Amino acid sequence: MEACPICNGLQNVSKLCPYCGGEMEERGALQDFIDDYSPYLSRELAANLTESRDCVHLYSCPVCDKDVRIATPLWNI
Ligand SMILES: [Zn+2]
Ligand SMILES: [Zn+2]
Repeated sequence: MEACPICNGLQNVSKLCPYCGGEMEERGALQDFIDDYSPYLSRELAANLTESRDCVHLYSCPVCDKDVRIATPLWNI
């Protein structure tokens, strides 16, 4: 079965902020945000998400409040 290693706590990915170099916080899988963020996410992105086999995680920087999306390939577990 394929599963996202981050959603399942198998891998902890730390990501440095591209703007200030600080450590970003993992906010969860992007699909969990689609309802809340639907005005913010384009319909195109939602379509990409369902086609993609990667789990996309949202990381945000607590210092400068930027966020980035990181596509995480699924693992066979
Ligand atoms: Zn995930
Ligand atoms: Zn930052």
